[in-house]
Amino acid sequence: MSALMPTYARSDLAFERGDGAWLYGTEGRRFLDFGSGIAVTGLGHAHPHLVAALRGQAEKLWHCSNLYHIPAQERLAERLCAASFAERAFFCNSGAEAVEACLKLARKYHDATGHPERWRVVVAANAFHGRTLATIAAGGQPKHLQGFGPAVDGFDRVPFGDAEAAAAAVGPETAAILVEPIQGEGGIVVADDAYLRALRGIADAHGILLLFDEVQSGMGRSGRLFAHEWAGVTPDGMAVAKGLGGGFPIGACLATAAAAVGMTAGSHGSTFGGNPLASAVGNAVLDVMLAEGFLATVRARGEDLRARLEALVERHPGVLTAVRGRGLLLGLVCAVPNTDLVAALQENGLLAVPGGGNVVRMLPPLIVGEEEIATAVDIIDRACRTLTGQTP
Ligand code: PLP
Repeated sequence: MSALMPTYARSDLAFERGDGAWLYGTEGRRFLDFGSGIAVTGLGHAHPHLVAALRGQAEKLWHCSNLYHIPAQERLAERLCAASFAERAFFCNSGAEAVEACLKLARKYHDATGHPERWRVVVAANAFHGRTLATIAAGGQPKHLQGFGPAVDGFDRVPFGDAEAAAAAVGPETAAILVEPIQGEGGIVVADDAYLRALRGIADAHGILLLFDEVQSGMGRSGRLFAHEWAGVTPDGMAVAKGLGGGFPIGACLATAAAAVGMTAGSHGSTFGGNPLASAVGNAVLDVMLAEGFLATVRARGEDLRARLEALVERHPGVLTAVRGRGLLLGLVCAVPNTDLVAALQENGLLAVPGGGNVVRMLPPLIVGEEEIATAVDIIDRACRTLTGQTP
């Protein structure tokens, strides 16, 4: 009996080492990692630049507290702001904390600008925002709320993609609208560009904040640094985590200076958030992601993978029904239970992640090579043949 709380239904695998897009199991098998620790290891495993940054910082200073200036954290904030709509950053350790910071920022914004009565947030159906008490309420999934007592109040849910419903849900107590530009856990559901632009218009018309949760869709995953860039629209606040640390825990709430007006000294905090180790790794991730041509290559690899997956959908209609997503954030909609496909892929040496809507998420590292994509597609083909009873 494990001493762990059994909060995860874990597969039997354990890994001892990773290298690029590959993971090496304790039993001696190697796996092509198209899960990336659920969209975290965007630069693959043991990326030399990240390893060097972590090692170099580890020998100097791990932690000192946000009671003091942390130059690497300031630099990370400046670089994230320069590369996005944002003008201010707050660092934390996870996606849920980044969303929490966005929610707090929205309430504080209205309090600081004379509208403390605005505190509610319009959220979308099929969303996922994390596992804290506020973020399970924002996500609204019954299976996440079950047994945890009265849900945190203040979230008004409307269908994802329905701007009219969002507009109708805005009332005198509304502080913000919060959506994922691409729903990740919900099964790689891409928001229409027009929908995101309409939400921007609604927020402006009512003087409320538009918040994007880019914890999964951000940090290059969609082929742009942030997925909302595809829609040509900017939010007032945004939650980022996962790929920001490439596997080192770090999250951020990014915001315009206007939206962050209430986030004054003492208003929010985190012991670990943006500590020297985390900030050193975050900067190293940006060194790679912001380099000339990196995101263009992600887009090209994404198109390649998508085209090959679409061909598999044609070939195996009994197993796969569609491909959706953007960049290297792709979902295979299944005709069989998605967990059966994930198991068959794992059996054949490919790791992928199930998602809502009976989807299997394909989240390769953003540094994935053409050959690795071809290998993964061969494995999916083989797994589909096994599932349809054809000779593999
Ligand atoms: N928001 C989104 C869109 C996510 O996909 C996730 C995690 O999957 C979270 C928030 C929560 O992030 P974390 O698990 O780091 O708290």
